[in-house]
Amino acid sequence: MFKKILIANRGEIALRIMRTAREMGIQTVVVYSQADEKSLPVLLADESVCVGPPASNASYLNIPNILSAALMTGAEAIHPGYGFMAENPDFAEMCGEHGIVFIGPTPESMRALGSKAGGREIAALSNVPVVPGTGLLDSTEAALLAAKQIGYPVLLKASAGGGGRGQKVVRTQDEMKTAFNQAQEEARLYFGDPAIIMEKFLEEFRHVEVQVMGDGQGHVIHIGERDCSIQRRNQKLIEEAPSTLPATLRQEILDAGVRLAQHVNYAGAGTLEFIVDRDGQFYFMEMNTRIQVEHCVSEMISGLDFVRMQLQIAAGEGLALQQSDVVLRGHAIECRLNAEDPDKDFRPAAGKIEEVYFPGGPGVRVDSHVYEGYAIPPHYDSLIGKLIVWHESRDQAIARMKRALQESVIGGPKTTIPLYIRIMDNPFYKRGAVMTNFLKTRMEL
Ligand code: ADP
Ligand code: ADP
Ligand code: MG
Repeated sequence: MFKKILIANRGEIALRIMRTAREMGIQTVVVYSQADEKSLPVLLADESVCVGPPASNASYLNIPNILSAALMTGAEAIHPGYGFMAENPDFAEMCGEHGIVFIGPTPESMRALGSKAGGREIAALSNVPVVPGTGLLDSTEAALLAAKQIGYPVLLKASAGGGGRGQKVVRTQDEMKTAFNQAQEEARLYFGDPAIIMEKFLEEFRHVEVQVMGDGQGHVIHIGERDCSIQRRNQKLIEEAPSTLPATLRQEILDAGVRLAQHVNYAGAGTLEFIVDRDGQFYFMEMNTRIQVEHCVSEMISGLDFVRMQLQIAAGEGLALQQSDVVLRGHAIECRLNAEDPDKDFRPAAGKIEEVYFPGGPGVRVDSHVYEGYAIPPHYDSLIGKLIVWHESRDQAIARMKRALQESVIGGPKTTIPLYIRIMDNPFYKRGAVMTNFLKTRMEL
């Protein structure tokens, strides 16, 4: 096992990774930007290295500085967390060239699955259904033709997009005449790659995703699925495991996820995202080749530590578990604690945390990097923590989540906590009748 690793991330996920490393007796180095000097991971790490000014481009995405930090401190491996460098195959490759292990899949499978176009191709090859749509489109004419075949409304997606950004709904032929070029321009601007694919725009569905682990030698297992249908602006707010889908459909989706990951000889932790429509049809959407924000709910029902497994696979210890060793029990829910104002269209609310009290008690887990007096920097996303609960049944987990939310105190910035308390009381939510349009159609937001 590694003696020292570098964590190339910030916030709650940097802390999450550090916690497991500590338990395994692994030394941690964390990199940070000038804006994060006083953040908890920096205060708790064995070593820390400032890699640049607040802007992510100059710090958390600054490859030369991050690699130098690893070489300078003698870190044997880099954990990228999620976001930032996590899905950058060039970075993974450069780590290798410098004799540093990238804790994640190979650059090849990242390249193959990293784009939405690539993901769709591999899905088709592994006999996994995809949303009706196209590969890369290179002109407005091609887009018009494809949309005619698929039927409006359609969705233009930046092939390199992520984090819920880079999507554009197009409802008519007239709109398409300007929308395609705009989408290309925006994709170039935000993701450095103008490539665009098209999908049928689906109005109502569930977002269900499969957690997999692979050893890179063809052995792939799943650790159940998660429902992440409660979203705003295509970004998840609340996730749960398992989903409330019927058993046969669940199994079909789990099998599809494993099949696809096996097709690329996947190594490490990954997530295959699916759309499930009202009729129980499911379609592959994309694969995230990294640990995910919501991995905790799957940890809670499996009793496994995914960061530990990532480290073991990356260190060449392989994947000891067989599918039959994975035993899922009970129900877990996660609420993303965001510093934003749900009444003002989820506008980010940076500022100082004047007061904080996190809940506890049976079956409650809090992953957060904030503390009293901590100032949320305005440069990054608004996630200030995650509240996760576990209980034997879904009903009990909902009651426990409500109790834990009511106990929570975050003084200072507006947060999503009051909204979540209302959701826990919502009759549709309680019944598990939740699609991605839940906030619009069931919460009168
Ligand atoms: P998850 O599916 O794990 O919830 P998200 O899609 O919400 O992950 O992304 C997690 C983090 O990574 C967010 O901070 C998001 O903004 C960022 N992110 C993900 N993909 C990209 C990308 N391609 N470019 C920029 N940021 C990204
Ligand atoms: P990202 O890389 O940004 O996470 P995804 O392809 O995973 O992009 O989509 C993010 C979210 O956007 C999904 O969870 C879903 O809510 C919505 N979405 C994706 N594809 C479609 C589609 N074809 N029709 C309608 N909504 C979609
Ligand atoms: Mg996604």
